[in-house]
Amino acid sequence: MSYLEGYTTSMISSFAHCSFCLKELPNHLTPQEYSWIECGINYDKKFQVNCIRHDKVLMVFEMKSLPFDQTCNHEREEEEYE
Ligand SMILES: [Zn+2]
Repeated sequence: MSYLEGYTTSMISSFAHCSFCLKELPNHLTPQEYSWIECGINYDKKFQVNCIRHDKVLMVFEMKSLPFDQTCNHEREEEEYE
C-alpha cells in the first residue's frame, strides 16, 4: 500500500489559494476548479507552492524530511514548450 493512499481532498482542513485568483473567481466555479497551482521542491530544498496564472509564489516552507533524495544535480535544465 502506498503511503499516499487514503489522502483525499476531504482530509485537508485548511486550503491554500492564491488571493488574486479568489478575487477573480468566476461565480460558477469553486476555488478548487479555478485554481492553477504547481508545487515542488525549490533550489533551496524547501517546499514551494506557486500560482501559475499570476506567476506568484504562494508559500515556501521547510520540510523535516524530503519525500525523495534531493542530493542530485540542481542545475536547471532548459525546457522547451511548443
Ligand atoms: Zn492566482
